Amino acid sequence: MEIELINVSKIYHRDVKAVSDINVTIGSGEFFVLLGPSGCGKSTLLRMIAGLEDITEGILKMDGIIANNLDPSKRNLSMVFQNYALYPHLTVEENILFGLYKKKNMSKTEKIKKCKDIAEMMGLGQYLKRKPRELSGGQRQRVALARAVVSEDPVCLMDEPLSNLDAKLRTNMRKEIKQLQKRLGITMIYVTHDQVEAMTMGDKIMILKNGRVQQIGKPLEIYNAPSNTFVASFIGAPPMNLIPARIANGEIILHGGHRLNLLRFQQNSDNREIIIGIRPEHINISDINNQRSINGNFFVKYKEILGTETIVTVELGGQEIFIRCNGQIDIPIGQEIGINIEVDKICIFDKETGKLISHPSVDLNLYRCNEIV
Ligand code: ADP
Repeated sequence: MEIELINVSKIYHRDVKAVSDINVTIGSGEFFVLLGPSGCGKSTLLRMIAGLEDITEGILKMDGIIANNLDPSKRNLSMVFQNYALYPHLTVEENILFGLYKKKNMSKTEKIKKCKDIAEMMGLGQYLKRKPRELSGGQRQRVALARAVVSEDPVCLMDEPLSNLDAKLRTNMRKEIKQLQKRLGITMIYVTHDQVEAMTMGDKIMILKNGRVQQIGKPLEIYNAPSNTFVASFIGAPPMNLIPARIANGEIILHGGHRLNLLRFQQNSDNREIIIGIRPEHINISDINNQRSINGNFFVKYKEILGTETIVTVELGGQEIFIRCNGQIDIPIGQEIGINIEVDKICIFDKETGKLISHPSVDLNLYRCNEIV
């Protein structure tokens, strides 16, 4: 089922918009993630799609039909919440069966068969007679998922379903949910504040801040060309380094006076104030005398050796810069190093507005680069 939102807003209190002017089309069979910090309006948007919250302004269409006032029970969608919301006095089987309560035409035998099939598919076959309290957190969450998808509704809405699970289980469940969604071919709208979930599960991600859309795109589009400095620092861990700079005489001069000497623009530009965005993996540690190092030397402030990679923190113009190195690099704290920025990988943002004005897949000539957002 396709879901379309046209100029959708939600006002809870006078003049306070929890969600503002959302325009998006979520394709049939798409895994669509609503991502943003707490309070940005994700759950409000999800609840408006579910029909649990009135839409103050705008239009919601489901498969092309206006659905603003459609009763929630007629919207052909299922929901999964963070707290599982299982019935404690019912068994696993009875909880899953509950997902079929709308199917008036289905016989009891058919319902039980369906319930057993889905339980088998989700590795719950041996727990059908147990009560929720006799299950682990991961198993309970799987029951909640099974109860949602057993109905085969064409849309499933999930609100932070993995928040209560430990890190290892979350990783497993991410894969399971994604596989299940693809196998069933349902449209998934998935709310999270976790950028890793969004990047690994989403076909598309919508990033919200203060109820407003910041960017909609495929995970790598957003990672490589974040529409503004908020998105740049929200996606990626550690986040994109954002370094104040200015353009003068065709060069980029970083805050602190360091020059990016490999990057030249064809013509001189006026002294435009910008912010350079560079991912930690696109900065390399080099010998301090290396010609390609940016001028000036840096001192290792902090390091995190993670096994397959090491995150080294240095200071540039009073600001911390993260560098992601492959492997285990045991540089002593306080060691002087040179750094080499891969200039063909930098994003450039306007300092005033924070908006992206140039990114690696466009020509890095600010004169020819159109405003992207
Ligand atoms: P998120 O899911 O991203 O954490 P929410 O959609 O829950 O954000 O909330 C968005 C904004 O709307 C917040 O400022 C929140 O305080 C406000 N809000 C949410 N629900 C209500 C409500 N029932 N009444 C009034 N304000 C609400």
